[in-house]
Amino acid sequence: QEHLLRASFLARLYGTEASLRKEDSTTDGTSFKGHDMLAPFTAGWQSTDLHPLVIEKSEGSYVYDINGKKYLDTLAGLWCTALGGNEPRLVAAATEQLNKLPFYHSFWNRTTKPSLDLAKELLETFTASKMAKAFFTNSGSEANDTQVKLVWYYNNALGRPNKKKFIARSKSYHGSTLIAASLSGLPALHHKFDLPAPFVLHTDCPHYWRYHVPGETEEEFSTRLANNLENLILKEGPETIAAFIAEPVMGAGGVIPPPATYFDKIQAVVKKYDILFIADEVICAFGRLGTMYGSDKYNIKPDLVSVAKALSSAYMPIGAVMVSPEVSDVIHSQSTKLGSFSHGFTYSGHPVACAVAIEALKIYKESNILDKVNSIAPKFQDGLKAFSDSPVVGEIRGTGLILGTEFVDNKSPNDPFPPEWGVGSYFGAQCEKEGMLVRVAGDNIMMSPPFIILPEEVDELISKYGKALKATEERVK
Ligand code: PLP
Repeated sequence: QEHLLRASFLARLYGTEASLRKEDSTTDGTSFKGHDMLAPFTAGWQSTDLHPLVIEKSEGSYVYDINGKKYLDTLAGLWCTALGGNEPRLVAAATEQLNKLPFYHSFWNRTTKPSLDLAKELLETFTASKMAKAFFTNSGSEANDTQVKLVWYYNNALGRPNKKKFIARSKSYHGSTLIAASLSGLPALHHKFDLPAPFVLHTDCPHYWRYHVPGETEEEFSTRLANNLENLILKEGPETIAAFIAEPVMGAGGVIPPPATYFDKIQAVVKKYDILFIADEVICAFGRLGTMYGSDKYNIKPDLVSVAKALSSAYMPIGAVMVSPEVSDVIHSQSTKLGSFSHGFTYSGHPVACAVAIEALKIYKESNILDKVNSIAPKFQDGLKAFSDSPVVGEIRGTGLILGTEFVDNKSPNDPFPPEWGVGSYFGAQCEKEGMLVRVAGDNIMMSPPFIILPEEVDELISKYGKALKATEERVK
């Protein structure tokens, strides 16, 4: 019912407020109202009141809808089109590979050159800890599902059949397949889906602003969370806990960078009980935070790593799992014993996706993408954080090219706006009216622009954000 209320609120908002999407048809008259798609993460597709925003074309940091309206795409698709909307080298790499070998698989010791080359290139990009092998998937969700299977296989091989539980964190997002949704710490992904699966436990979300107790420093907050994690492990029995999974900066949970000393303290606990550390780098990898990986930024030394999204700048669906030498040796000897490593997807190491990813990695290197991100990030972060004083803003937080805004009343994490006010949705709608797309989740707004965003585009982003914020303040008053 809450969803229906929200959908009807949104329909009213969209229908009357901003003359948004009044064009429910394309220029050739096709209507997409009440369309046929069961749309992912969409409220309102079941109602005929809402028109989808249909995107038709992309160019640099911009996308265009089917009526020709131009939007600054501040989420880079879904945190993924790192090289923007029309990188010709990626198109050429795909075309060339499509002409040569559009598909061959990687099962039974048959494979393709692009998948072998990408595995080598990818492993070389990760230096925070040693990685020995890469396994290819089609998505971040499949990468995280694969992590669970690898870890179970590993512990079975080591004769530890009870060491199978996973600890993830509240508000984390690890994908939406059965296992990845179970790992995720967002109630909407579990509710009415009979999830999470029972082997998954959730520990604290490391959001200092929201959860610290009065007088507690960031360091003390991190110590408390590490103690809570240790207590959870002891309560469950360390011999039952297989792995801990974390995004270096939480993305979909609201863009939550870790508090000071958090990962040092968490890693010490995890290590103490022989628990594997999985870094979910699906959003953070390849430069988003101004370092090649989030692990580099926070001194994380994972045993396993998940990547996707910017791996191909999203031009082709591809993800990967990287595996440490210790884990890969055990998996290798176990599969030799069993006769096969029986896990894989038809499209694991798809040659076109791999060719595009190789080119994307080449572009990141040749264009010094980290320098680019680090030179533009302060303008983006400082320009938006300057709005922190707004009476409707609780916190603006972020690092590199990722940033979240949380709207609350009275500047207090304990005073949310009534959900039926739809403050976040209103802000999002205002941005859209101004020609800018942001991610709205309740009263959280998220942005992660392409790495190639230009200084004048950041100015435009800040100006549009400012206008939408002013309109939101007036509406809430
Ligand atoms: N992990 C993280 C941190 C993500 O942000 C996402 C997607 O947003 C995923 C995993 C899932 O990736 P995919 O949507 O490609 O399955």
